[in-house]
Amino acid sequence: MKRDLIVIGGGPAGLSAAIEAKKKNLNVLVLDKGAIVNSIQKFPPSMIFFSTVELLEIGGVPFIAGSPRPTRAEAVNYYARVARSHGIEFKGNSRVISVQKISNGRTGFTLEVKNEMTSQLSFLTADKVVVATGFFDNPNMLRVPGEGLPNVSHTYRESGLHFGQKVVIIGGKNSAIEAALDLYRHGVDVTILYRREWFGKSVKYWMLPDIENRVKNGEIKASFNTKVLEIKPDRVIADIKGKVEEFKCDYVYALTGYHPDVNFLRCLGIEIDQETGIPKHDPETFESNVPGIYVAGSIVAGYDCNKIFIENGREHGKQIAENLAKL
Ligand code: NAP
Repeated sequence: MKRDLIVIGGGPAGLSAAIEAKKKNLNVLVLDKGAIVNSIQKFPPSMIFFSTVELLEIGGVPFIAGSPRPTRAEAVNYYARVARSHGIEFKGNSRVISVQKISNGRTGFTLEVKNEMTSQLSFLTADKVVVATGFFDNPNMLRVPGEGLPNVSHTYRESGLHFGQKVVIIGGKNSAIEAALDLYRHGVDVTILYRREWFGKSVKYWMLPDIENRVKNGEIKASFNTKVLEIKPDRVIADIKGKVEEFKCDYVYALTGYHPDVNFLRCLGIEIDQETGIPKHDPETFESNVPGIYVAGSIVAGYDCNKIFIENGREHGKQIAENLAKL
């Protein structure tokens, strides 16, 4: 069965696009290589959103949570419930391998999809495609020796894993600070290695004085102007203004941000700005340079992962659906 629309990516932006298209009576399928809101599922279990509930709502469904800023679990449950209540057809563990324009004068696209559990390939067709693949699966790599060691991770989980350990955190923005404070409050010995002079204004206003005071008091150790050169199983080697220093540790979190999978977008024929990573698109309709393929959510901002969040990425679907309804 050919769908009117297939949405690639079952995060908030993809779900929002699917719901808005469904409201316009389009036949929609959402595919995700993992579970619904897969990235949120992988956030730290104790994570609390920076955004307040009303800014996370999609499909006009109220988000009721225990406090104004919801937990990770509340968000997962909310998005799953919204998808269910809007009757969204969702296929998880479905990785889109390719999207090809249908030839022989017919319109639409054929999507080659791999089942991540069985490795089986299947083919689906749709008139239009929305790509809302986010960025959390693609961490910014330091590109230093040792980054692939088992004692290194680019995503923080929880403090209990590090009881009695020394942990080094690389990076100095929200993920890094949040993890450092959580580890410190659970008795873990933490050292932050940050390439800048000091923490910047983009750290959330309720965390900035906390981290600054912990560092000033020596409760959390921090080394600034510090460039990591290499990671070993028991230490990090770094350059501090031309001087090489070693930081002994049991575990390393490189919380260095994320970027969209621009290679996937390029495979679809979408042009990517070399410098910004922004996919070529019409800012009114979000249609990319490939007619019939739209982009939505954080991938629209390219390499800048501090520009489009759930709060504004959820709006893209409305504009896409408006445009689709006019065709
Ligand atoms: P980010 O804002 O991109 O910060 C990445 C950090 O890593 C920056 O300090 C950056 O340095 C550093 N870095 C990047 N590449 C590096 C390299 N090659 N070598 C050394 N350092 C490098 O990423 P993030 O903190 O993970 O935040 C991502 C998004 O998630 C943001 O929108 C954030 O607000 C959001 N977030 C939300 C929550 C929540 O809702 N609870 C929690 C955490 C994060 P510079 O400072 O020099 O750029």
